[in-house]
Amino acid sequence: MREAQRPLRVAIVGRPNVGKSTLFNRLIGRRLALVDDRPGVTRDRREGEARLGDLALVVVDTAGLEEADPNSLEGRMRAQTETAIAESDAALFLIDARAGVTPADRHFAALLHRTGKPVVVVANKCERSSGEPGFYEAFELGLGEPIAVSAEHGLGLADLTEALVRIDAAREQHPTEAEAHEAGEGDPVRIAIVGRPNAGKSTLLNRLIGEERMLTGPEAGITRDAIAVDWEWKGRPVRLVDTAGLRRKARVQEKLERLSVGDALRAIRFAEVVVVVLDVQSPFEKQDLQIADLVTREGRALVIAVNKWDTITDPDVRLRDLREAADRLLPQVRGMPLVPVSALTGFGLDRLMKDVFDIHARWNTRVPTGELNRWFAALIDHHPPPAVAGRRIKLRYVTQTAVRPPTFVAFGSRTDAIPDSYKRYLLNGLRDTFGLVGVPVRLHLRSAD
Ligand code: GDP
Ligand code: GDP
Repeated sequence: MREAQRPLRVAIVGRPNVGKSTLFNRLIGRRLALVDDRPGVTRDRREGEARLGDLALVVVDTAGLEEADPNSLEGRMRAQTETAIAESDAALFLIDARAGVTPADRHFAALLHRTGKPVVVVANKCERSSGEPGFYEAFELGLGEPIAVSAEHGLGLADLTEALVRIDAAREQHPTEAEAHEAGEGDPVRIAIVGRPNAGKSTLLNRLIGEERMLTGPEAGITRDAIAVDWEWKGRPVRLVDTAGLRRKARVQEKLERLSVGDALRAIRFAEVVVVVLDVQSPFEKQDLQIADLVTREGRALVIAVNKWDTITDPDVRLRDLREAADRLLPQVRGMPLVPVSALTGFGLDRLMKDVFDIHARWNTRVPTGELNRWFAALIDHHPPPAVAGRRIKLRYVTQTAVRPPTFVAFGSRTDAIPDSYKRYLLNGLRDTFGLVGVPVRLHLRSAD
């Protein structure tokens, strides 16, 4: 359901002389900027409408605010910029790639971090290779992958558009994703328990929380309320959602074999770690795999709980078979935690929660750039990318652009010609070397020339 959208409002921010006005003019084109000419206001804010592909924008230029009061440069910069950002949906954070990242840039980066708004780091003045080092440095601002542009020459606008389109889409589709990304230390680990009806989700939830907070019973669909429970496991805060919400809309008398993907998605997006509950009597049915696949595509950490373990007599054989099936059916998160449990007796729950916290930590892994590139150089040295049409593909540099899930970008030349098998080789190397086994890992390849 796409409501009529107001244009995406973006503020262009950055220290003086990075090219904010130039970018503003480039985006607005010939369109008249809505310049407020009251004294003192003109300098503070120019805004205008722009269109990038299908995307309608209102662009706010904050150029000039820095100079407004040289005596309290920092204070004024902060207040004005904060206001502009607060009133916008996103910020375009410009740096001068030729100059590299300066202390003033870091100051802005810290400010932007605090606002929690989506930020696109724009490395301007990249029309020649003199911008390359600054472009790489920009990753270290910790605000995601920078976009190389030249405002003056109109280069890089397609990439910029792509980044803004993503933000625009996220503004309505992922209201909770931003929340998930802002979580800090000491915040509860957010867990969702999902699975087919009758797998034992409610029983598991009750068992974990240690209270009979919810009704459970043989009829699927008996739990009608969406429940988020704050709770602790061995002193660690947990916020747990039951997928009761998945069933809320369904009438009790309805057949509930079908699980609405939309509802499952909502629960999955709420969570950082998703526990998919299987029934050991019928593990890995199509629906189970669909749910697990959804979890990894959404970039969440996955833990498989194989429930009703009390009903089987051959645990060793079962476990081996299940392990094999899980790795074969979900190769993208091969090695994910798979824990036999009995929600009824409490068997396996310690192990389950331990694996939940472990994978949450792995999902949050940040690999230092230096370490990453030492590994990268050795890996490429050992097994270089194949030549395509007689020409070597070069890979130069890799950096981690995000956690939750770990996301990497590798730069080189002609990276679009890199075969999938080589990409898998890189991905597997990343997983095995940096302890990312069992979590979704993203790897993007970019040509930097
Ligand atoms: P602001 O203070 O951030 O608004 O920066 P301006 O837009 O006034 O630009 C500062 C200087 O950088 C001007 O001399 C611009 O011509 C120059 N500039 C802006 N964009 C580019 C670019 O893409 N490449 C180069 N080489 N110079 C640029
Ligand atoms: P939900 O629909 O996934 O929430 O499933 P419920 O928690 O309502 O459980 C469905 C049925 O499976 C109920 O009859 C439970 O008593 C039973 N059940 C749940 N966990 C276990 C378990 O570990 N062992 C056994 N034997 N039965 C279980």
